[in-house]
Amino acid sequence: MGDPVTAAMVATELVEETGKLAKARRKLLDYMRVDHVRGCWLVQVGMTRNGYGQMMVDHERDLTHRWSYRAFHGPIPAGLVVRHACDVRNCVNPLHLSIGTQSDNIRECVARGRFAKNRGGAKLGWPEVEAIRASSETNTALAARYGVHRLTIGEIKLGRTWIR
Ligand SMILES: [Zn+2]
Repeated sequence: MGDPVTAAMVATELVEETGKLAKARRKLLDYMRVDHVRGCWLVQVGMTRNGYGQMMVDHERDLTHRWSYRAFHGPIPAGLVVRHACDVRNCVNPLHLSIGTQSDNIRECVARGRFAKNRGGAKLGWPEVEAIRASSETNTALAARYGVHRLTIGEIKLGRTWIR
């Protein structure tokens, strides 16, 4: 503890461990179940109509992915949103979360084919979907071939989209 920098860092850590974000971190780790296919940390607490998790820590209510961002990465800058790289709304894996604007969010959703169900401008049709499901190629290789996001391929293979 001779080094003042180290001592200060340890002191900061101790404060954080008893703070609100440390509680949030513990709660999230307690509530989540790992989806081993996608690496998502799924929570089923305080589910909103839109499919987001929600929880209360020290009288403050916030969405679980926002708690996760705050607890594992840091503050969310004003006017920005926390986005899911995996597109799974109740996922709280900090590695799947990033900061962006609402319009980034919408643009990416379109690019990923979340709106492909509408078929307007969709890159895939049933023949492609069937070929993807039958293929033993990696999701990355298939994504490159069909010009869609790798996670879109994953969703198709798991039967979460393109359901007959
Ligand atoms: Zn995820």
